[in-house]
Amino acid sequence: IVDFGIKEALKELGVSDHNKGTSTGANWFSSKETISSFSPVDGELIGNVETTTAEDYEKVIQTATQAFKSWRILPAPQRGEIVRQFGEELRKLKEPLGKLVSYEMGKSYQEGLGEVQEMIDICDFAVGLSRQLHGLTMHSERPGHRMYEQYHPLGIVGIISAFNFPVAVWAWNTALAWICGDVCVWKPSEKTPLCGVACQNIITKVLKDNNLPEGISCLINGDYKVGEMMTTDKRVPLISATGSTRMGKIVGATVGERLGKSLLELGGNNAIIVTPDADIKMTVIGAVFGAVGTAGQRCTSTRRLIIHESIYDKVKNAVVDAYGQLRIGNPLDENNHVGPLIDTDAVKGYQNALEKVVEEGGTIVVEGAVLSGEGYESGCYVKPAIAEADNSFKIVQHETFAPVLYLLKYSGDIEDAIDVQNGVAQGLSSAVMTNNLREAERFLSHAGSDCGIANVNIGTSGAEIGGAFGGEKETGGGRESGSDAWKVYMRRQTNTINYTTELPLAQGIKFDL
Ligand code: NAD
Repeated sequence: IVDFGIKEALKELGVSDHNKGTSTGANWFSSKETISSFSPVDGELIGNVETTTAEDYEKVIQTATQAFKSWRILPAPQRGEIVRQFGEELRKLKEPLGKLVSYEMGKSYQEGLGEVQEMIDICDFAVGLSRQLHGLTMHSERPGHRMYEQYHPLGIVGIISAFNFPVAVWAWNTALAWICGDVCVWKPSEKTPLCGVACQNIITKVLKDNNLPEGISCLINGDYKVGEMMTTDKRVPLISATGSTRMGKIVGATVGERLGKSLLELGGNNAIIVTPDADIKMTVIGAVFGAVGTAGQRCTSTRRLIIHESIYDKVKNAVVDAYGQLRIGNPLDENNHVGPLIDTDAVKGYQNALEKVVEEGGTIVVEGAVLSGEGYESGCYVKPAIAEADNSFKIVQHETFAPVLYLLKYSGDIEDAIDVQNGVAQGLSSAVMTNNLREAERFLSHAGSDCGIANVNIGTSGAEIGGAFGGEKETGGGRESGSDAWKVYMRRQTNTINYTTELPLAQGIKFDL
């Protein structure tokens, strides 16, 4: 048995067999109910986390509300300094946290480290941004008047996150929200609660070292019912929710009902278009990593390959050959390419997709299978599969969160391929593989891809934090991370100042007394 150092990692992160799951920082609350976290890697129980009660939720919100009052008046660059220190702690704990991500979620250790790196990167980004939260100034139509806009903090930001990026999504939100002057309450996925406890321990130390009040970073735990405590709560002006489209429709409606703001980062159905001018070698690497990386459990995973008929067989054979080389097994073992799915429900979703695609008239070209035997005891390991299908199939229109890749053939020109690419309900990530400038530009134009992310000669997955991240249509329309995504964490105020002794009205309206 290879020891991957999990026990030491948990110890370093302050995660035990039994953890309190509700925290306002140094203060942790006890409750009776727990969630058990089992590793999809080996099926072992990693630890238990106590869930949040309605009373404890109330204490959390009151403490966060109080903390906001002092946090919002700290100058933004000083808040940036706290985020800088948080990034430093993450650098120190990159390996244990990357290991926990890999063990609790099932992604490869490399990807676990990559996730922590994203957290560090967003901290660096946020530190610089803390000196750049600027609005515009504009000329007033009235003489002796000055007009400008400012961005002010919102208050409590509620973060609901998915299992597949158990730590990075929280950091994308918090690092920006904190420098913007907001305080955060996080409900991690009930499938990865220990990652939540570990992250809260890291930020708690930083806040304590700086004598900052309880409540700037809060953690709550549980399933959707605990999430609903926040989505229905008027005291939480912004809900940032990452997860399935099904969840987003409910959360969006609930938050909309009370006219709160929501930032929704939901499911994708991402495609790579492969044109006759594509570099086939690059296409194969991009498509295979996109389809099987994280066992097909990225929101940006490649689900569809839209291949021109003239090169269809060539691309198909090359991708099928590459699938033959894949090693499936323990994701902490760096020799393996594909780890497990998150749980046996996800395995059922995978099996269902393979049945449905055949029922609808598709052809399996790489057979799937649920693996058993030594090393596969958790029952969560599956063989990445490929099916030839049609974009109109119901199952192709649906996001199956597993390594199932659909091959779709197009004839005609790039426009026909773009129609297929856009012909789904989701709009997250898209890519074209081509060396033809006209095709590439057409794909990126206003008549091109309708997704939030559109790449040329890169696959669909693996975004950088510098750009705004998110998608259109049923992906929810939210943007996180880089560019000007910070604006959603703030409220905009337009200010007009009159420095004369007259009171001229806008639009030249006369109102003489
Ligand atoms: P999920 O929708 O099952 O759960 C996500 C989170 O929402 C969990 O914390 C869950 O407890 C909570 N939740 C569910 N119903 C809720 C409700 N009614 N009210 C409040 N909270 C509720 O998703 P999952 O299986 O954890 O994650 C996979 C999905 O997430 C995929 O669809 C994937 O594409 C998507 N995802 C999207 C992005 C993105 O940035 N667009 C990133 C990661 C994952």
